[in-house]
Amino acid sequence: MSANKIVEVQVCELTPPPPSEAGTPARRPPWGATFVQATPMDRFDQSVSRREPGGLIWVKVIAEDGSWGLGCADTGHVATILIKECLAPLIIGQEVGAIDLCNDLMWRGTLSFGNEGLTARAVAGVDLALWDLWGKVLDQPVYRLAGGPQRSSMDVYVTGNDVDWSLEIGFKKFKLARPFGVYDGHAGIEGTVALIARTREQIGSEADLMLDCWMAYDADYAVQMCEALRPYRMRWMEEMLLPHDWKGLKAVRQRVPWQTLATGEHWATRYPGARAIEEHLVDLIQADLHWIGGFTEAMKLAHFADAAGISMCLHTGANNPYGQHWTAAMPNTPLIELFQASPPGVPLEECYLGSPSESGRRCYRTPPGTPMPVDGKLGLPPGPGFGLQVPEDWLKPI
Ligand SMILES: [Mg+2]
Repeated sequence: MSANKIVEVQVCELTPPPPSEAGTPARRPPWGATFVQATPMDRFDQSVSRREPGGLIWVKVIAEDGSWGLGCADTGHVATILIKECLAPLIIGQEVGAIDLCNDLMWRGTLSFGNEGLTARAVAGVDLALWDLWGKVLDQPVYRLAGGPQRSSMDVYVTGNDVDWSLEIGFKKFKLARPFGVYDGHAGIEGTVALIARTREQIGSEADLMLDCWMAYDADYAVQMCEALRPYRMRWMEEMLLPHDWKGLKAVRQRVPWQTLATGEHWATRYPGARAIEEHLVDLIQADLHWIGGFTEAMKLAHFADAAGISMCLHTGANNPYGQHWTAAMPNTPLIELFQASPPGVPLEECYLGSPSESGRRCYRTPPGTPMPVDGKLGLPPGPGFGLQVPEDWLKPI
């Protein structure tokens, strides 16, 4: 059988048709509409918000037999240029299924101008499309091609501060966003303790409770916060420090050795995670498939982490089929995260790209048809490929 080669890479916008139904109305605005989250930008005494260069774009890799796979990438304007000018020429002509070769070509081919950060996000878009394509050609779900399934169902934890709504729809493991950071001083610690105490009361003594600190602390503040929250038995404390504060991570590890530490969503490529594994700086690595550089890059890190006895739990992994397939296939993935995209009263199944409930990032890259958890559990996602339900005529090349 002659090899099926990659012949074209397109960057596309996703334009679903207007929703035919109005959708379920929300009982109240979601927590994100009013809750102020601490960020590293709080250092500045002026109001400045973060800026990302462009939204979501979709990457279509086409084979010579006409089959195609679909990936997506954040930071659309920059990713579009990188994919068209740098990445597509590297993989066109390669064999469909030679994904590790394509990964290495893209990694080495971008070394000279930097392959972390935005480049890794562009690489991820192509890499995800390669896996989808291979799965469709072989008529198999991606989790099976990647060594799985490891389990028949996945435990899901929910992230979001509408805890009453998350309880109502069956979740049993909860992660909150932080209200305060290091620049709020002692009052920030007291305010955080009040929120966590209230939530522990609400969810009961047995439920898992975590706090996402999104880089808003320094090492000393992190230690003070962990000690103040110790009575509430935090399942883990997440991303308390800036992503490359290696000395800080080490200091926190030494000063609060009893606290489970998680981080890694802002680590791009396998290398920062590899360093954290080698130095035993964290217990749980939370790579984001779209930011680390794709399915292949995260898989390499997962195998290295597993060899060291460290778990991984994808950032927002349950919000789209890519993360669901990856989690189903990897050996060391005890949990998967669902970012709570549905406002109170709106079923999870209604919150996808192009739905009446869509509102920018709240839908979190969720294509229509993505399986949603029931009672905090998620079954194996459908295939072939990633099982995406995106008709070809929704994709407009740019
Ligand atoms: Mg996080």
